[in-house]
Amino acid sequence: MSTPTKFVLDESQIPRNWYNIMADLPVPLAPPLHPGTLKPLGPDDLAPLFPMELIMQEVSAEREVPIPEPVREVFRLWRPAPLYRAHRLEKALGTPAKIYYKYEGVSPAGSHKPNTAVPQAWYNAQAGIKKLTTETGAGQWGSSLAFAGALFGIDVTVYQVRVSYDQKPYRRALMETYGAKCLPSPSNTTNCGRAILEKNPNHPGSLGIAISEAVEVAATHDDTKYSLGSVLNHVLMHQTIIGQEAMKQLEMAGDDPDVVVGCTGGGSNFAGIAFPFVGQQLRGKGKTKQRRIVAVEPAACPSLTRGKFAYDFGDTSHLTPLVKMHTLGSTFTPPGFHAGGLRYHGMAPLVSHLHALKLIEATSYHQNECFEAGVLFARAEGIVPAPEANHAVKGAIAEAMRCKREGKSEVILFNLCGHGHFDMSAYSAYASGKLVDQHYDEKELAMALAGLPSVPEPA
Ligand SMILES: *Cc1c(COP(=O)(O)O)cnc(C)c1O
Repeated sequence: MSTPTKFVLDESQIPRNWYNIMADLPVPLAPPLHPGTLKPLGPDDLAPLFPMELIMQEVSAEREVPIPEPVREVFRLWRPAPLYRAHRLEKALGTPAKIYYKYEGVSPAGSHKPNTAVPQAWYNAQAGIKKLTTETGAGQWGSSLAFAGALFGIDVTVYQVRVSYDQKPYRRALMETYGAKCLPSPSNTTNCGRAILEKNPNHPGSLGIAISEAVEVAATHDDTKYSLGSVLNHVLMHQTIIGQEAMKQLEMAGDDPDVVVGCTGGGSNFAGIAFPFVGQQLRGKGKTKQRRIVAVEPAACPSLTRGKFAYDFGDTSHLTPLVKMHTLGSTFTPPGFHAGGLRYHGMAPLVSHLHALKLIEATSYHQNECFEAGVLFARAEGIVPAPEANHAVKGAIAEAMRCKREGKSEVILFNLCGHGHFDMSAYSAYASGKLVDQHYDEKELAMALAGLPSVPEPA
């Protein structure tokens, strides 16, 4: 093998700016609406939940937003993240395609999420905030914010979806090791949690409910703000360091991707790898390479491929603003599957918008075929992917097999957004044939979609 396997940048090449795709959109994003008045939201409406710097980033139209030096200083712990050429996977597949993957599992928490947890905690600390609340599904986001809180002296309380809290004690142990407090959601510490427990004391919880609880606490306590690990514009922007680094690394490799693949839960790691490439295309106006950008989602929670592009709430108890996004309906509870980070009813407004403009594609797979791809990847490349990341692995392998059929040596880039070391029980279940490809309930989806809030289309 004469070409390198690993493309590594120097610490000085950690990006100095986040890339804000708002500056390059051909059609502006639909504004978030106040849940009471249905009028576009002003910055002050969000002030109870977020520090002003992050609110300004949420609405910013500047193409480049500087990354504060103390944040870049923390990034040096694991960034720049390596880019790999998957020589052994290519061989195992017998494909003429070149496959590259950006590996975000090198972060302390094991995924891309600290890329936004660190700046979010830093901006809150700068604003004098001492307490943050948040939600977590599988525990990836909770452990990332717990880590970031420890760095800047912020108390973090994490509402963890009850099923994960019971089934994944090690993620909870990791959050507690970083000093965070972890509560099962629904809990009896909030009005919305109590209301849900009253109806069903054994409620398994959902991300939508955990968000309601975390938002309620922040909205009712002056010293507490809320932090979200995906979906919002500023969160997606924080992740664009992934794609910016990958671009430089592919230049080192002398390649330019034909296809960029990422998995989508709320859309942040996908946006991170994809938006810098989409932006280059938008600014090039046909003069740069036209790449295919592919989002891969779970077939059991298919917001992009089966959801409606409509205004909806981000949470179950309807405390959040209304945003226009691909949604399965805020009352939809996806069936249980192992990629907990992908079990969300909505999709980031920015990712939804690009999909509606046909600038990105979306596809979906069931969990068994994703685990099959993940095991194949692990046996060839050594890294055991997170169950969420297996969706991206599956998407990349599908593209590589298409190249094989068509005899094309396209360049495929995908984001390996995290490792699966905390998810080995899911791999055991897969190995013993116990994973079930669950189908969502068509009737429940129809009901959830019928219950979408009615918002008059702006003139
Ligand atoms: C949280 C998580 C996801 C899903 O979130 P996105 O915002 O869609 O990236 C995917 N992969 C991993 C490893 C995660 O921790």
